[in-house]
Amino acid sequence: MEIDGKTGLIGLIGNPVEHTLSPVIHNGISERMGINSVYVPFQVEKEGLEDAVKGAYALNILGMNVTVPHKNQVMEYLEDIDEAAGHIGAVNTLVRMKSPDSKDTPKAGYKGYNTDMLGLRRQIREDGISLNGKNTAILGAGGAAKAVVYMCLSEGAKTVYLLNRTVEKAEAVAKAMNAFYAKEVVIPMALQDYGKIDEKDLIVFQATSIGLAPDTDSAVLEDPEFYEKVSVGVDLIYNPADTKFMRLVTEHGGKAYNALKMLLYQGVIAYELWHDVKVPRDIVEDVYTDLKRKMYQKDNIVFIGFMGSGKTTVGKELAKRMKMDFLDTDSYIENRTGKSIPEIFAKEGEEAFRRLETEALQHLRDTVKNTVISTGGGMPLKRENAGLLKEIGRVYYLTAADSIIYERVKGDSDRPLLRGSNPYERIHELMKNRAPLYERAADIWVDTNCNDLEEVIARVKKDWAQFGNRIKEQL
Ligand code: NAP
Repeated sequence: MEIDGKTGLIGLIGNPVEHTLSPVIHNGISERMGINSVYVPFQVEKEGLEDAVKGAYALNILGMNVTVPHKNQVMEYLEDIDEAAGHIGAVNTLVRMKSPDSKDTPKAGYKGYNTDMLGLRRQIREDGISLNGKNTAILGAGGAAKAVVYMCLSEGAKTVYLLNRTVEKAEAVAKAMNAFYAKEVVIPMALQDYGKIDEKDLIVFQATSIGLAPDTDSAVLEDPEFYEKVSVGVDLIYNPADTKFMRLVTEHGGKAYNALKMLLYQGVIAYELWHDVKVPRDIVEDVYTDLKRKMYQKDNIVFIGFMGSGKTTVGKELAKRMKMDFLDTDSYIENRTGKSIPEIFAKEGEEAFRRLETEALQHLRDTVKNTVISTGGGMPLKRENAGLLKEIGRVYYLTAADSIIYERVKGDSDRPLLRGSNPYERIHELMKNRAPLYERAADIWVDTNCNDLEEVIARVKKDWAQFGNRIKEQL
């Protein structure tokens, strides 16, 4: 898309925004429809939200998506709010209102909509799921769950069991929604009381954050008895494509769906509101294929983890067996710079080394295929790197206990970060700080405490094979 003086700007405000898939949707539609607009993500802090909304209006920005953590607070800065978004209490789309000199809308600002709800409704209708007169259950009572409650009620559900770990939140949502509809359709419950639901053929929406990558082996409810009652399960999570909740639903004979289409449609609906167009069906389908490719199709295997977690040993062996190339980012940087890692640390400092790591990832993203990549232990420290790693491949976080790491690396004089009087203490400290960063950067965790190379390789191969199969089913 060529940017010129007439290019319209649309975008996203949130924090963080670097992993967003929305540019794939909006820029993909603009390109295919020949519409001269560009979609850009903006990271906005809480304190800057009001300025961001006013600034966007002043800059003539056509419209914005709003994501976590601003979906509620942004409502304070809008000129108008769509009725459904008002009842849900969350806005994810801002549409520029007519200019102040227009006679019909003498307002200068944005109108807020909730296209998450509209997107989910379009998905379930398309998947042939009718809620009219049906018993439904929603797991979770956070921002997304509120949109699901509204949708269930507007689609004529007979009952909505609203289960949440913090029951007070479920009660508050139920009270507001029942008052709005003037009937007691929403029944708030504590999550652990799921056994009290005495229904068959439940349509269940999973709206908690449990099961989201990299914690892919968890579901918010795991009791088989619950799943005996479920005929349809929709997980609002789409990463991974096939969540544990979905697996439990299908294992017990139900039909399961993720909500990547909800993401697609909330974007398409926002795009239509901003540009006052109808996006044709074939373009929507092409954009959905782009989205699935971007989300699920990966060419490379990437290992992250602390020093001594086995990234190089496992990586080399795996590459050999899977007939893939092997690449170590530290060696790659040494080759590119002609300097050793200890030399770079000593002469230029850690910050300079981290910059080299980012440059290496940017280069690898555009060049490598069919490769197993072992990364330096500090690679995911920079947020930017975490995003790049996911673009390069499926990211496996090799985990191990501090004591096991210590046994593996003690006496290794080539590790600049371990020089000092108490390496064990240093390992403990570094791991405490780094674990959340590794978790954020990973698609999946692989435990290596067993110290058994065969076992670790088998776990990675199993996931990679399942992952490959899932991609084929999805595309
Ligand atoms: P949120 O407002 O933070 O709500 C999180 C929910 O998860 C709450 O109900 C919370 O319960 C529950 N939860 C968190 N940790 C839990 C635990 N350990 N045990 C039991 N329950 C737990 O998040 P949200 O914005 O509603 O998003 C929820 C999910 O929907 C996320 O996974 C998000 O990715 C997905 N989503 C998907 C789309 C899409 O387009 N497909 C759109 C929006 C959201 P408490 O209230 O007790 O803390």
